[in-house]
Amino acid sequence: MKALVITELLGDGIGPELRESVHGVAGCLPLAIDFEPIDLSLERRRAGAAAAYDEVVASLARTRLGLKYPTVTEGESPNAVLRTRLGLSVIHRPVHSIPGIASSFKETVALEIVRVATGGTYDDPGQRIGQDVAVSLRIIERRPCTEAARFAFRLARQHGLSVTSSSKHTIQRATDGFFEAIVREVAAEFPDVPHRVELFDALLAKICLRPREFSVVLTLNEYGDFLSDMACGLIGSMGLGASGNYSFAKSGEIDVAIFDPAGGTAPDIAGSGVCNPTAALLALALLLEHARHFELASRLRGAILGAIASGRTTRDVGGTLGTAAFTACIRDALARAIA
Ligand code: ATP
Repeated sequence: MKALVITELLGDGIGPELRESVHGVAGCLPLAIDFEPIDLSLERRRAGAAAAYDEVVASLARTRLGLKYPTVTEGESPNAVLRTRLGLSVIHRPVHSIPGIASSFKETVALEIVRVATGGTYDDPGQRIGQDVAVSLRIIERRPCTEAARFAFRLARQHGLSVTSSSKHTIQRATDGFFEAIVREVAAEFPDVPHRVELFDALLAKICLRPREFSVVLTLNEYGDFLSDMACGLIGSMGLGASGNYSFAKSGEIDVAIFDPAGGTAPDIAGSGVCNPTAALLALALLLEHARHFELASRLRGAILGAIASGRTTRDVGGTLGTAAFTACIRDALARAIA
């Protein structure tokens, strides 16, 4: 069987420990995986960032599949550089309640947040005009909006879900109105997928009141940023999730996909063997799903969530295990599930 080749973007802090855990778990999957590591650590970037990014781009041109560990930002953010260099235009962030993780919110959350990764107000630094005024440009482009919308509707179709697109189109008529018009055009290509539009402020309230009514939520850049953090707050965890970042070919198909854990480099605990690899392992599960290994992805997710639910987890979420012991639990559960 042909091996799955994955470009690994190595980072800083707890990155090496997350990687060890990922390799430990990947090693017990009934699947040949070749990792192609590229050093994106701060040390390497200081020695020659351009060459490091060139290597990443060259590797991904072959593999089209990446797994990225957290990186420290010094000067330009590596995530921003990769977004530009690779034309990553869509971010998919699943946010699901995790049994065993304490949260003050009692309802179950199961959201698939699909966000236009570029533009909005984030691509323009803005400027001051005199002492009392500042302005910034809001940029909405057809191509990334179409790509995000198609991604959202395909995802909904694949899992039998609905799409809610959300913006402030009644106030930001030119920009958000354009976004919703594009979404309507794409929705017409998916007549079997239910679609509704919610104003973003109302959406936040409705998700808090009745989260089960929402599944795939499609938004522009800033709204997706706000919503992702709010949803993580609802499930009681900012750091246990993973994202997929996508670029698209002219045909509309996904070109490059990079998966990464939500959390940062956690320099305070780096090297001490206690970090929680859940988000990195969920990133691996998302990657497997993207590579159409649906059964393995679901078994891996089940093994991770099962370990957390039974309290066999790391200290940051109330357990007693170190990274290696937690990883071993997941390996054991996975081996049993696959046998
Ligand atoms: P960065 O600059 O990379 O964002 P940071 O320390 O400012 O690093 P995080 O890495 O998100 O931000 O860490 C915030 C806190 O959460 C730290 O106390 C860290 O130890 C903890 N933390 C982050 N990731 C993990 C993890 N995977 N396992 C356990 N604790 C974590």
